[in-house]
Amino acid sequence: MGRAGTPPRIMKEERLREALEKLLSMFKSGNLPPAVARTMIRRQAGDERPSDKWSLGNRLLMYLAGTEDARGFRQWEEVGRHVKKGAKAFHILAPLTKTRKVKIRDPERGEEREEERPVIVGFRFIPVFRLEDTEGKPLPEINYMPPELPPLFDVAARLGIKVRYSPGDGSYYGSFQPGLKRINLHTHDVKTYFHELAHAVHNTIRPLVGGQDPVQEVVAETVACTLCEIYGYTGYAWHGWQYIKACAGGEPKQALKLVMKVLCEVEEVLERIWEAANPEERGVCGLTYRIWEAQNAGEDTTYLVAMSAMREISLREEIARGERLIRLLRLVAETEDRNRARRMADCEI
Ligand SMILES: [Zn+2]
Repeated sequence: MGRAGTPPRIMKEERLREALEKLLSMFKSGNLPPAVARTMIRRQAGDERPSDKWSLGNRLLMYLAGTEDARGFRQWEEVGRHVKKGAKAFHILAPLTKTRKVKIRDPERGEEREEERPVIVGFRFIPVFRLEDTEGKPLPEINYMPPELPPLFDVAARLGIKVRYSPGDGSYYGSFQPGLKRINLHTHDVKTYFHELAHAVHNTIRPLVGGQDPVQEVVAETVACTLCEIYGYTGYAWHGWQYIKACAGGEPKQALKLVMKVLCEVEEVLERIWEAANPEERGVCGLTYRIWEAQNAGEDTTYLVAMSAMREISLREEIARGERLIRLLRLVAETEDRNRARRMADCEI
C-alpha cells in the first residue's frame, strides 16, 4: 500500500502512547482495575441447532466439513428443508449406551452396592448433512448484533473485513479468518472485537501463521487492552494480562519480556487502526470523566473529585503505592463533558 520502504513513524497520537504506557505499568505492577465478567452470546429461542448439544469432537468434525450447522436427513425435513440430490453426508460419532449394573462404594458407610447406570459400550456413525447441501424453507434469521456497536466498528469495514456476531460453542470468544477476511465474534465484549481487529490488521503487516501463535496473540491482546484503556473499558485489562501470561507460559516476567519484544508491532497495528478510523471515531475515545466521592486519610469529611478514566488508572496506582493518601469511596457520576465534570466536583485531579 505504498508504505514499503518508509521508515517506521512515531505514533502521533499521544493518547495511544499514553494508554499503552499505562497498560504496561499496570502489567508490571500487577495492579489492575477490578475485572468485569466476560459474556458469551447465547442462542435465542427458535434458533436452536442439534449440534449445540454435540460433543466438542463432533462439532470439530462439523467445522472441518465447512459448515456451522449439520443435521440428519430427518432433522432437516422437520424444519422444512431437503437434502439436495447427490449431496454427500459426513459422519459424526454417537455413543452407544446400555444400562449395566455397576458397583458403587458408599463413602460414608464404606459399603458396596449395585446400581443400574448407562454405560458407553461403543460408538456408531451417524450420517449428517451440511446446511449448504440443503434447500427449502429458510431457517429463522436472528440478529445477534450488540445493542451498541463497539468503538472503531467501522474500521473493519473500511479495511474490507466483515464482522459477524453469532452464538459460539463456548470454547472461544472470537476468531479471525484471513482467507475469508472475516471476524467471528461469539461475545459482545468490546475487547474481543479489538483483539480480532488487531489480528486482521496485523495480517496486513505480515501474514499470520495458523493456530495460536504466542507472538501474534500477545500483539493482538496488547492492542486490544490498549484500546480498552483508551475507551474506558478498564475491566478487561485483568483478563488481558491473564491471557498474555498464559501465552508466555505462565511466568509474569517472561510475559512482560514478550510484550516488550513485540511492542514495535503493537504500535504499528495501533497506528494502522488509528489511521483507518475517522476523526469522530477517534474523538469519542478516552473522554469519559468520572466524579468520585473521596476522603483523605484520617479525615471525616468527604469531597467530590473529577478525573478522566485514564487519569483514574494512574491515580489508583499512586494510591496503591501510598503516594496519595486519599480513598475513593463511591462513583457518583460519569460524563463525557469535562466542563460538566468540573462543575459537579469540588476539585479535579
Ligand atoms: Zn487471538
